[in-house]
Amino acid sequence: MGRKVTVYGYRFKDGILQADKEQSKFVQEIFNVYNSGIPVSRLKDYIEGLEINRVRLSDMLSDKRYMGDENFPKIIEPELFEAVQQRKKERRKAVGKEQPYIYHKEQFLLGDKMKCGECGSAYHCYKHGELRRWDCSKRLVKGRVTCRNQRIQEDQIKELFMQAVGNLKKHPEQIRKITIHRIRRNSRLEALEREIEMLKNSSTTEIEELLRLVYKRASLLYENADDGGDAYHTQKIEDLIQQHKEQSEEKTFDKDLFDAIIEAITIYKDGRIVFTLKNGVAMTKLL
Ligand SMILES: [Zn+2]
Repeated sequence: MGRKVTVYGYRFKDGILQADKEQSKFVQEIFNVYNSGIPVSRLKDYIEGLEINRVRLSDMLSDKRYMGDENFPKIIEPELFEAVQQRKKERRKAVGKEQPYIYHKEQFLLGDKMKCGECGSAYHCYKHGELRRWDCSKRLVKGRVTCRNQRIQEDQIKELFMQAVGNLKKHPEQIRKITIHRIRRNSRLEALEREIEMLKNSSTTEIEELLRLVYKRASLLYENADDGGDAYHTQKIEDLIQQHKEQSEEKTFDKDLFDAIIEAITIYKDGRIVFTLKNGVAMTKLL
Protein backbone atom coordinates (compact mmCIF):
# COMPACT_ATOMS: atom_id res chain seq x y z
CA MET A 1 0.00 0.00 0.00
CA GLY A 2 1.36 3.36 -1.00
CA ARG A 3 0.34 6.90 -0.24
CA LYS A 4 -2.98 7.97 -1.52
CA VAL A 5 -2.91 9.89 -4.80
CA THR A 6 -5.79 12.19 -5.51
CA VAL A 7 -5.00 12.74 -9.17
CA TYR A 8 -7.01 10.29 -11.20
CA GLY A 9 -4.81 8.17 -13.46
CA TYR A 10 -1.86 7.77 -11.11
CA ARG A 11 -0.80 5.61 -8.24
CA PHE A 12 2.22 5.00 -6.10
CA LYS A 13 4.06 1.78 -6.56
CA ASP A 14 7.11 1.08 -4.44
CA GLY A 15 7.12 4.74 -3.43
CA ILE A 16 7.22 5.92 -7.01
CA LEU A 17 4.37 7.78 -8.70
CA GLN A 18 3.28 5.86 -11.76
CA ALA A 19 0.52 5.94 -14.30
CA ASP A 20 -2.18 3.52 -13.24
CA LYS A 21 -2.73 1.19 -16.16
CA GLU A 22 -6.52 1.05 -16.07
CA GLN A 23 -7.13 4.63 -14.95
CA SER A 24 -4.71 6.16 -17.43
CA LYS A 25 -6.56 4.37 -20.21
CA PHE A 26 -9.75 6.06 -19.03
CA VAL A 27 -7.97 9.41 -18.95
CA GLN A 28 -6.86 8.96 -22.56
CA GLU A 29 -10.34 7.94 -23.61
CA ILE A 30 -11.85 10.96 -21.86
CA PHE A 31 -9.53 13.32 -23.74
CA ASN A 32 -10.00 11.58 -27.06
CA VAL A 33 -13.77 11.30 -26.88
CA TYR A 34 -14.13 14.90 -25.71
CA ASN A 35 -11.86 16.02 -28.52
CA SER A 36 -14.10 14.24 -31.02
CA GLY A 37 -16.87 16.70 -30.07
CA ILE A 38 -18.76 14.92 -27.31
CA PRO A 39 -19.72 17.27 -24.44
CA VAL A 40 -18.58 16.49 -20.89
CA SER A 41 -22.16 15.74 -19.87
CA ARG A 42 -22.32 12.87 -22.36
CA LEU A 43 -18.88 11.30 -22.01
CA LYS A 44 -20.39 8.55 -19.86
CA ASP A 45 -22.55 7.47 -22.79
CA TYR A 46 -19.46 6.92 -24.91
CA ILE A 47 -17.01 5.47 -22.43
CA GLU A 48 -18.03 2.19 -20.94
CA GLY A 49 -17.57 1.88 -17.21
CA LEU A 50 -16.76 5.54 -16.66
CA GLU A 51 -17.80 6.50 -13.13
CA ILE A 52 -16.55 10.05 -12.75
CA ASN A 53 -18.85 12.97 -12.22
CA ARG A 54 -19.16 15.82 -14.66
CA VAL A 55 -17.45 18.48 -12.59
CA ARG A 56 -14.45 16.27 -12.00
CA LEU A 57 -14.32 15.25 -15.65
CA SER A 58 -14.25 18.89 -16.63
CA ASP A 59 -11.42 19.56 -14.17
CA MET A 60 -9.50 16.57 -15.48
CA LEU A 61 -9.72 17.92 -19.02
CA SER A 62 -7.82 21.03 -17.85
CA ASP A 63 -5.27 19.26 -15.66
CA LYS A 64 -1.82 19.99 -17.11
CA ARG A 65 -0.19 17.26 -15.06
CA TYR A 66 -1.48 14.71 -17.56
CA MET A 67 1.09 16.09 -20.03
CA GLY A 68 3.77 15.03 -17.59
CA ASP A 69 6.17 16.98 -15.39
CA GLU A 70 8.92 16.23 -12.88
CA ASN A 71 6.45 14.38 -10.64
CA PHE A 72 3.79 13.01 -12.95
CA PRO A 73 4.44 10.66 -15.85
CA LYS A 74 2.89 11.70 -19.15
CA ILE A 75 -0.51 10.21 -19.98
CA ILE A 76 -1.70 12.74 -22.59
CA GLU A 77 0.25 14.10 -25.55
CA PRO A 78 0.61 17.91 -25.43
CA GLU A 79 -1.00 18.21 -28.89
CA LEU A 80 -4.14 16.43 -27.69
CA PHE A 81 -4.16 18.45 -24.48
CA GLU A 82 -3.96 21.72 -26.40
CA ALA A 83 -6.68 20.61 -28.83
CA VAL A 84 -8.93 19.85 -25.87
CA GLN A 85 -8.27 23.29 -24.32
CA GLN A 86 -9.21 24.90 -27.62
CA ARG A 87 -12.42 22.90 -27.75
CA LYS A 88 -13.30 23.84 -24.18
CA LYS A 89 -12.85 27.50 -25.03
CA GLU A 90 -15.11 27.23 -28.08
CA ARG A 91 -17.74 25.43 -26.09
CA ARG A 92 -17.73 28.09 -23.39
CA LYS A 93 -18.23 30.74 -26.05
CA ALA A 94 -21.08 28.83 -27.67
CA VAL A 95 -22.79 28.35 -24.32
CA GLY A 96 -22.40 32.06 -23.61
CA LYS A 97 -24.14 32.89 -26.85
CA GLU A 98 -27.03 30.52 -26.31
CA GLN A 99 -27.72 31.95 -22.85
CA PRO A 100 -29.84 29.01 -21.83
CA TYR A 101 -32.65 29.74 -19.38
CA ILE A 102 -31.66 33.31 -18.76
CA TYR A 103 -34.27 35.61 -17.42
CA HIS A 104 -35.37 38.21 -19.98
CA LYS A 105 -38.44 39.77 -18.47
CA GLU A 106 -38.53 43.10 -20.32
CA GLN A 107 -38.34 41.87 -23.84
CA PHE A 108 -41.22 39.47 -23.57
CA LEU A 109 -44.74 40.08 -24.64
CA LEU A 110 -46.47 38.87 -21.55
CA GLY A 111 -44.61 41.29 -19.31
CA ASP A 112 -45.36 40.95 -15.62
CA LYS A 113 -48.87 39.60 -15.94
CA MET A 114 -47.97 35.98 -15.35
CA LYS A 115 -48.55 34.72 -11.81
CA CYS A 116 -48.10 31.44 -9.98
CA GLY A 117 -51.40 30.14 -8.63
CA GLU A 118 -49.65 27.81 -6.22
CA CYS A 119 -47.21 30.05 -4.35
CA GLY A 120 -48.29 33.51 -5.52
CA SER A 121 -44.93 34.45 -7.00
CA ALA A 122 -44.39 35.97 -10.40
CA TYR A 123 -43.73 33.79 -13.40
CA HIS A 124 -40.55 34.59 -15.27
CA CYS A 125 -39.55 33.92 -18.82
CA TYR A 126 -36.54 31.84 -19.62
CA LYS A 127 -35.16 31.73 -23.09
CA HIS A 128 -33.61 28.60 -24.46
CA GLY A 129 -32.66 28.98 -28.08
CA GLU A 130 -35.82 30.03 -29.84
CA LEU A 131 -37.98 28.68 -27.07
CA ARG A 132 -39.49 31.00 -24.49
CA ARG A 133 -40.62 29.18 -21.46
CA TRP A 134 -42.38 30.60 -18.41
CA ASP A 135 -41.71 29.18 -15.01
CA CYS A 136 -42.47 30.08 -11.43
CA SER A 137 -39.69 32.38 -10.24
CA LYS A 138 -39.61 30.43 -6.98
CA ARG A 139 -39.10 27.04 -8.59
CA LEU A 140 -35.49 27.07 -7.48
CA VAL A 141 -34.34 29.01 -4.49
CA LYS A 142 -30.65 28.53 -3.71
CA GLY A 143 -30.60 25.39 -5.78
CA ARG A 144 -33.59 23.84 -4.04
CA VAL A 145 -36.97 23.23 -5.61
CA THR A 146 -39.49 25.27 -3.64
CA CYS A 147 -42.40 25.44 -6.10
CA ARG A 148 -43.48 22.60 -8.34
CA ASN A 149 -45.93 24.47 -10.49
CA GLN A 150 -45.81 23.71 -14.19
CA ARG A 151 -43.66 25.33 -16.81
CA ILE A 152 -45.46 26.69 -19.82
CA GLN A 153 -44.31 27.76 -23.25
CA GLU A 154 -45.08 31.29 -24.32
CA ASP A 155 -46.60 30.07 -27.59
CA GLN A 156 -49.12 27.98 -25.67
CA ILE A 157 -50.19 30.99 -23.63
CA LYS A 158 -50.63 33.09 -26.74
CA GLU A 159 -52.67 30.36 -28.34
CA LEU A 160 -54.90 30.00 -25.29
CA PHE A 161 -55.35 33.76 -25.17
CA MET A 162 -56.51 33.86 -28.78
CA GLN A 163 -58.86 30.96 -28.06
CA ALA A 164 -60.31 32.97 -25.18
CA VAL A 165 -60.69 35.97 -27.51
CA GLY A 166 -62.49 33.78 -30.04
CA ASN A 167 -64.76 32.63 -27.27
CA LEU A 168 -65.56 36.21 -26.22
CA LYS A 169 -66.39 37.12 -29.81
CA LYS A 170 -68.97 34.37 -29.87
CA HIS A 171 -70.25 35.04 -26.38
CA PRO A 172 -69.71 38.73 -25.59
CA GLU A 173 -72.13 38.41 -22.66
CA GLN A 174 -69.31 36.66 -20.79
CA ILE A 175 -67.49 39.98 -20.55
CA ARG A 176 -70.25 41.06 -18.13
CA LYS A 177 -70.13 38.05 -15.89
CA ILE A 178 -69.34 39.85 -12.63
CA THR A 179 -72.29 42.00 -11.85
CA ILE A 180 -73.64 40.39 -8.69
CA HIS A 181 -72.08 42.54 -5.99
CA ARG A 182 -72.45 45.66 -8.08
CA ILE A 183 -76.21 45.17 -8.27
CA ARG A 184 -76.36 44.64 -4.54
CA ARG A 185 -74.40 47.80 -3.98
CA ASN A 186 -76.58 49.74 -6.39
CA SER A 187 -79.69 48.58 -4.60
CA ARG A 188 -78.21 49.90 -1.35
CA LEU A 189 -77.67 53.20 -3.09
CA GLU A 190 -81.20 53.23 -4.47
CA ALA A 191 -82.64 52.58 -1.02
CA LEU A 192 -80.57 55.40 0.37
CA GLU A 193 -81.70 57.78 -2.34
CA ARG A 194 -85.35 56.93 -1.68
CA GLU A 195 -84.79 57.63 2.01
CA ILE A 196 -83.16 60.98 1.26
CA GLU A 197 -86.04 61.97 -1.02
CA MET A 198 -88.57 61.07 1.68
CA LEU A 199 -86.70 63.10 4.28
CA LYS A 200 -86.48 66.11 1.97
CA ASN A 201 -90.23 66.03 1.41
CA SER A 202 -91.06 65.55 5.04
CA SER A 203 -91.83 68.57 7.19
CA THR A 204 -90.23 67.09 10.31
CA THR A 205 -86.81 66.37 8.82
CA GLU A 206 -83.81 66.80 11.03
CA ILE A 207 -81.03 68.37 9.09
CA GLU A 208 -78.37 66.26 10.77
CA GLU A 209 -80.07 63.05 9.77
CA LEU A 210 -80.30 64.29 6.21
CA LEU A 211 -76.64 65.28 6.16
CA ARG A 212 -75.69 61.87 7.52
CA LEU A 213 -77.56 60.16 4.70
CA VAL A 214 -76.15 62.50 2.07
CA TYR A 215 -72.70 61.77 3.36
CA LYS A 216 -73.40 58.05 3.26
CA ARG A 217 -74.66 58.37 -0.28
CA ALA A 218 -71.45 60.17 -1.28
CA SER A 219 -69.30 57.40 0.12
CA LEU A 220 -71.42 54.77 -1.63
CA LEU A 221 -71.11 56.68 -4.86
CA TYR A 222 -67.40 56.81 -4.27
CA GLU A 223 -67.27 53.04 -3.81
CA ASN A 224 -69.27 52.70 -6.97
CA ALA A 225 -66.69 54.81 -8.74
CA ASP A 226 -64.40 51.79 -8.35
CA ASP A 227 -67.06 49.75 -10.00
CA GLY A 228 -67.17 52.58 -12.48
CA GLY A 229 -63.62 51.46 -13.24
CA ASP A 230 -64.91 47.97 -13.85
CA ALA A 231 -67.75 49.35 -15.94
CA TYR A 232 -65.31 51.42 -17.93
CA HIS A 233 -63.15 48.37 -18.57
CA THR A 234 -66.16 46.23 -19.38
CA GLN A 235 -67.22 48.72 -22.04
CA LYS A 236 -63.72 49.02 -23.39
CA ILE A 237 -63.24 45.26 -23.60
CA GLU A 238 -66.59 44.86 -25.33
CA ASP A 239 -65.64 47.53 -27.88
CA LEU A 240 -62.23 46.03 -28.53
CA ILE A 241 -63.60 42.53 -28.94
CA GLN A 242 -66.26 43.83 -31.29
CA GLN A 243 -63.65 45.73 -33.32
CA HIS A 244 -61.42 42.72 -33.49
CA LYS A 245 -64.34 40.65 -34.66
CA GLU A 246 -65.12 43.09 -37.46
CA GLN A 247 -61.54 43.64 -38.51
CA SER A 248 -60.18 40.17 -38.75
CA GLU A 249 -60.55 36.49 -38.57
CA GLU A 250 -57.02 36.53 -37.30
CA LYS A 251 -55.97 33.91 -34.88
CA THR A 252 -52.41 35.07 -34.46
CA PHE A 253 -51.50 36.65 -31.15
CA ASP A 254 -52.58 40.27 -30.92
CA LYS A 255 -50.28 42.05 -28.50
CA ASP A 256 -52.28 45.30 -28.38
CA LEU A 257 -55.47 43.47 -27.58
CA PHE A 258 -53.65 41.43 -24.98
CA ASP A 259 -52.25 44.52 -23.23
CA ALA A 260 -55.61 46.27 -23.37
CA ILE A 261 -57.83 43.58 -21.90
CA ILE A 262 -55.71 41.26 -19.73
CA GLU A 263 -55.00 42.07 -16.11
CA ALA A 264 -53.32 38.81 -15.10
CA ILE A 265 -52.69 35.23 -16.11
CA THR A 266 -52.56 32.72 -13.29
CA ILE A 267 -50.99 29.32 -13.77
CA TYR A 268 -52.06 26.31 -11.70
CA LYS A 269 -50.36 22.98 -11.26
CA ASP A 270 -53.45 21.05 -12.37
CA GLY A 271 -53.26 22.61 -15.85
CA ARG A 272 -55.67 25.49 -15.36
CA ILE A 273 -54.67 28.80 -16.87
CA VAL A 274 -56.88 31.62 -15.62
CA PHE A 275 -57.05 34.76 -17.72
CA THR A 276 -58.31 37.70 -15.67
CA LEU A 277 -59.70 40.56 -17.69
CA LYS A 278 -59.24 44.18 -16.62
CA ASN A 279 -62.82 44.32 -15.38
CA GLY A 280 -62.25 41.35 -13.09
CA VAL A 281 -63.88 38.66 -15.21
CA ALA A 282 -61.95 35.41 -15.04
CA MET A 283 -61.81 32.89 -17.87
CA THR A 284 -60.37 29.48 -17.20
CA LYS A 285 -58.57 27.54 -19.88
CA LEU A 286 -57.01 24.12 -19.64
CA LEU A 287 -53.63 23.20 -20.96
ZN1 LIG B 1 -44.84 29.09 -7.61
